[in-house]
Amino acid sequence: MIDLRSDTVTKPTQGMLDAMLSAHVGDDVFGDDPTVNQLQDMISDMFGMESAIFCPSGTMTNQIAIKVHTNPGDELICDRLSHIYIYEGGGIARNSGVSTRLLQGDRGRFLASDISNNINPDDEHFPITTLISIENTCNKGGGSVWNFDNIKEIANVCKKRNLKLHLDGARLFNALTESKARPADYGNIFDSISICLSKGLGAPIGSLLLGSNEFIKKARRIRKVFGGGMRQVGYLAAAGIYALENNLKRLKEDHQRAKIIESTLLNLPYIKSVYPVETNLIVFELESNLNVNHFLKKLEEKDIFVIKTGHQLIRMVTHLNFNDDMLESTIDILNKIKF
Ligand SMILES: *Cc1c(COP(=O)(O)O)cnc(C)c1O
Repeated sequence: MIDLRSDTVTKPTQGMLDAMLSAHVGDDVFGDDPTVNQLQDMISDMFGMESAIFCPSGTMTNQIAIKVHTNPGDELICDRLSHIYIYEGGGIARNSGVSTRLLQGDRGRFLASDISNNINPDDEHFPITTLISIENTCNKGGGSVWNFDNIKEIANVCKKRNLKLHLDGARLFNALTESKARPADYGNIFDSISICLSKGLGAPIGSLLLGSNEFIKKARRIRKVFGGGMRQVGYLAAAGIYALENNLKRLKEDHQRAKIIESTLLNLPYIKSVYPVETNLIVFELESNLNVNHFLKKLEEKDIFVIKTGHQLIRMVTHLNFNDDMLESTIDILNKIKF
């Protein structure tokens, strides 16, 4: 089976499993798990931030951040393609009682002026703008990477206007692979950063939320309320440490394979357009006369699995368990299949 549905489908390698089995553990709700503490210290050092907290999912880290940064009746600004808005079950409104101002950016990326133009005036009619959220890479934008200078300009507006700045960095390491900016550059300007270990990094579970000591203290309280306090979770944190130590450099391979798939797709008659491939996500639009379910079924018959991600839109994602042999078969099948 060639599974290109997501980079979350990877299974732990033997090396990762060995690291998990030999982990030292304790009750993390008491702060006693040495492996969780090591992972949290490792990521905060890497980003030059004060503190971090290990959580089960990226949805939880994003939702905790939104709740800590806001009060009910506030408004946050993000792009219309944001995961926090589309794919987190309406959590912004449900968990935090916060309204959302949606921007229409370029595949998820917007400018500092978009923020300035959408901050509400201090007038009782309007919700109070308090939080800006950026997603890098942007999932629904097809793995688009932000220009770090634009992010810095946005951070300047936030500082001037007293707004908090959150980064949904589920795939931040994919962005870092393609950018000159370093983790500490991000740590320097964001109030909070969420990072997933279970996407391109290949861990079976886990996300990290980074911020100041004061922010993480509040985040621990909210994690408990959300039911995310975990006990001997060092077995899972060990997978995260292993991922950070072994699986960052290889992300470039995923990006190179995605580029090769892109160049194949660009020559196929049944494909109308392909989003420019920047990282490990490939999004393309089928010609309007080709039925999406028919396309999916034909690929499944050849043992290739991809997903529909919008009207006539298909998504493929390269990852740790997708190798060169699979790449070759995928290209061969895409070239031969007739519609
Ligand atoms: C996957 C993802 C998340 C978090 O998802 P979980 O499945 O809850 O871990 C958050 N943001 C983006 C952009 C993602 O792709």
